[in-house]
Amino acid sequence: MVVWRQYLVPETQAAKVTYGKQNTKKYIIIHETDNEKSGADADAYARLQYNGHYREASWHLTVDDKEAVQSFAFEYACVGAGSAKGNLQSIQVNICVNSDGDYLQAVNNTAVIVARIMKEENITINNVVQHHYFNNKNCPRKMREERVKWMQFISMVRNASVGTVRKRNAANATTKYFVVTGLYETQQAAENAHDVLKYRFGWNAYIEQLNDKWRIKAGKFISKTEAKVAEKKIKVAQLSKITEVVADLTE
Ligand SMILES: [Zn+2]
Repeated sequence: MVVWRQYLVPETQAAKVTYGKQNTKKYIIIHETDNEKSGADADAYARLQYNGHYREASWHLTVDDKEAVQSFAFEYACVGAGSAKGNLQSIQVNICVNSDGDYLQAVNNTAVIVARIMKEENITINNVVQHHYFNNKNCPRKMREERVKWMQFISMVRNASVGTVRKRNAANATTKYFVVTGLYETQQAAENAHDVLKYRFGWNAYIEQLNDKWRIKAGKFISKTEAKVAEKKIKVAQLSKITEVVADLTE
């Protein structure tokens, strides 16, 4: 089973990072994030896109070893192909290569998701292409280095069982949650940790000063479960030994 979750970028943000709703959806482009940092997973990239922290490019779906997260409706012409021809005609899928993830599983999940998109959007296998096809960029790099051969990936797509995709629409729970870190002795330490939470994990993060110490508040998370996962991520990355989940009482 592969979860296909929606975490759609708000329309105002989408207008800034795409060519608008003029995608003819003729091709499916396969990218890789090329970012092996721990924690650079599908959730992180979806959050970066959602929060407007990622401005270099846009793409529709990010896939890792756990799930596929959709950031834009396919009508949007995203900007990732390096050519107008590619951007205006393609659904763009980005495979995570984070070192704490299982790349082969991410490729497997991508094959299933691509097969499902082909079926839903009536796109043929001949139009499933590498980013390289449109502008000669060395992307998807690991696949081009034959970590998984391209033809092998294509046959995985052909043989994928599209019924194993579980679609989940954007959750609209009312209570949201923040994760608060322990205290940092220096502002610099807080800023370093803040940058990881914001630019690698993709969260909205704020530094708060308490007397002569600092802490970080990150969020909002849509469920307590999601906040707990975030807490774990902070601990695994050794950014703070102490963390606390707090409900957002402003809504
Ligand atoms: Zn690419």
